[in-house]
Amino acid sequence: AELALIQSEKLAAVGRLASSISHEINNPLEAITNLFYLIDTSEGLPPEVAQYVRIAQGELSRVCQIATQTLRFHRQAVSATRVTAKDLVDAVLNLYHGRLLNSGIQVETDFTTSHPILCFENDIRQVLNNLIANAIDAMRQGGRLVVRAHEATDHSAEDHSRKGIRISIADTGHGMSPAVRARLFEPFYTTKELNGTGLGLWISSGIVDRHQGKLTLRSTDHPVHHGTVFALFLPCFEEVQQPLETSEG
Ligand code: ADP
Repeated sequence: AELALIQSEKLAAVGRLASSISHEINNPLEAITNLFYLIDTSEGLPPEVAQYVRIAQGELSRVCQIATQTLRFHRQAVSATRVTAKDLVDAVLNLYHGRLLNSGIQVETDFTTSHPILCFENDIRQVLNNLIANAIDAMRQGGRLVVRAHEATDHSAEDHSRKGIRISIADTGHGMSPAVRARLFEPFYTTKELNGTGLGLWISSGIVDRHQGKLTLRSTDHPVHHGTVFALFLPCFEEVQQPLETSEG
């Protein structure tokens, strides 16, 4: 356990470093983006040059994506609020309504609890957002997305069990090999050649840790029964407790 703690402190330090670097490079990145736009829309550009500009813009937008995702990691609401799993999930599913339809993905939801969760709402939305986006990415040929929420107990704590809410996100996508499973929480680890940053799950696990929660998964790339289930456990805190720290900045 001590080793895990050192590891997570190291990751937190790396996160702070990454966050301040991306903050510094954000303004110049915006300037470069605008300049490329001006070049791209200027007249009389030789076709060959126009082609180079377009490639540069593509690479640039990737850098921008990495910078904003990293920044988001350390931006946090000032105080935690109470919100139901249904409200959290519905807000995220609404964002993906169009993409889900276009990809031929059936969505099913099942909420058997309306117990409010004390959390930093935007951060937990970000987690659900990452998990649902990954599920959609894994179902390019369509499939089923099932999101459930129910009351649950976490027995993995050493000296006690904790009550909380478990939100599960199941997809019938391509699943993953043991090699991918072993690395997917690492920063910058991605199997998506063009549009992945590899930050989604790393950021998500940081957010879940701050909520004293758990993010676990089962996945298989079996040729017939392939798919992935992520489970997000968030503990329920008593009214009197002040368990979640407020933001660092
Ligand atoms: P990104 O989505 O940018 O690649 P993530 O950290 O969110 O970064 O995910 C890392 C990798 O984990 C993905 O590239 C993918 O290989 C794998 N992965 C995550 N979620 C799923 C899923 N639902 N189904 C299959 N593979 C997944």
